[in-house]
Amino acid sequence: MPLHPIVGHHETRRRLARGVRSKRLPQVLVLAGPWGVGKQRLALWLAQLVLCEAAGEQPCGSCRACRLVGGLAHPDLHWFVPIPRPKASESDKQVEEASQAIADAMEERRSRPLNAQSDGMASHGIASVRLLQRQAALTSVEGGRRIFIIGEADRLVSQESSQEAANALLKLLEEPPREACSC
Ligand SMILES: [Zn+2]
Repeated sequence: MPLHPIVGHHETRRRLARGVRSKRLPQVLVLAGPWGVGKQRLALWLAQLVLCEAAGEQPCGSCRACRLVGGLAHPDLHWFVPIPRPKASESDKQVEEASQAIADAMEERRSRPLNAQSDGMASHGIASVRLLQRQAALTSVEGGRRIFIIGEADRLVSQESSQEAANALLKLLEEPPREACSC
């Protein structure tokens, strides 16, 4: 399984689990903290818990949904990681490039569970935000909730169109589509 075991965050996990089971989990969560404490791993744990077919306090780890999340292959889990700026000049092509770059990053994470910090120049540019908007507008593949994780969200910076990207993302977070939650 590509995901390394989650470590710590016991109290946070208990609180998140209570939120999930009482159906009071906020649609948007910000996990803030120093680099390397496992924020994205915690977000993946939460994704697994939300999508798990057993209604326990922990993801069961063995149902189909758990196994798909564990393999970073669940069709309703969208994990956005910072990527290099697309080279294409046309907007649709940029989104295609972003989609491919994220797919490549996921492929790499499947083979190397403990991922290093993204390249210093990588970011969440307007192409990634457009891709996220498109995916958010679709319906769930498995019929349940959809999860969007924006890793290293502080990389939503620099580059000429960053303000546009930030505003578009903010709008999406303020008015998330139903049955979607993002971290
Ligand atoms: Zn499960």
